[in-house]
Amino acid sequence: MSRVSSAQLKENLESIKERIRQAALRAGRNSEEITLLGVTKTVEPDIICQAYDLGLRDFGENRVQEFLRKADIIDRACRWHIIGRLQTNKVKYLDHRVSLIHSLDRMELAETLHARGEKIGRIWDVLVQVNVSGEETKTGVSPENLKDFVRNVAKLGNIHIKGLMTIAPYAENSEEVRWVFRELRNLAVDIQRESMDNINMEFLSMGMSNDFEVAIEEGANIVRVGSAIFGERVYLP
Ligand SMILES: *Cc1c(COP(=O)(O)O)cnc(C)c1O
Repeated sequence: MSRVSSAQLKENLESIKERIRQAALRAGRNSEEITLLGVTKTVEPDIICQAYDLGLRDFGENRVQEFLRKADIIDRACRWHIIGRLQTNKVKYLDHRVSLIHSLDRMELAETLHARGEKIGRIWDVLVQVNVSGEETKTGVSPENLKDFVRNVAKLGNIHIKGLMTIAPYAENSEEVRWVFRELRNLAVDIQRESMDNINMEFLSMGMSNDFEVAIEEGANIVRVGSAIFGERVYLP
């Protein structure tokens, strides 16, 4: 499990926020329109509470069971995001505490979410995950199929598409993946132009610990930052 001292956590958060401000400034943007999403996979609840008390409000988990375990015991008004590949058989556990799902990547998942939404009286806010880089190891809708995919999801009343998400390939130098972020924004602009029902492109979720500044320069308004806030993840067997 990841442990970070309180002092280190505070320092990390301040430093990330300052880097967000600087990146926004370079792009002529207002940093207040950018949400810092703390990625808390493997991070223990007490540390999540400390981060909350330091002002962080948005938290992302990539495993449904881990999200539920934490949401059950954390008595703070966290906004919870589901950011990782979502297995269809886990959808039945999702409830009203989920504020945004970042990883809609296939029709089967959309249909399952729609059915779950109907059952519990919930319209899910979701982002479509796009595999911009085309890496085989990454999930996500391909840019070519994106419009058709979005059109089909738009027919499902219990899902509102609120934007796009992508994960860039890892690069030592984040300049190398700038094109990925630029491409995601262009795709969002394209879709917005179609003005489809149930669809808007309010959010661009892109950028992680090693590339969030470039993502902000290219228009990200949600950055998903884990290790730069909470330290390196340690997975116990
Ligand atoms: C783990 C994860 C992150 C955060 O990664 P860091 O490099 O630790 O910032 C962001 N997005 C997704 C989808 C993740 O799974």
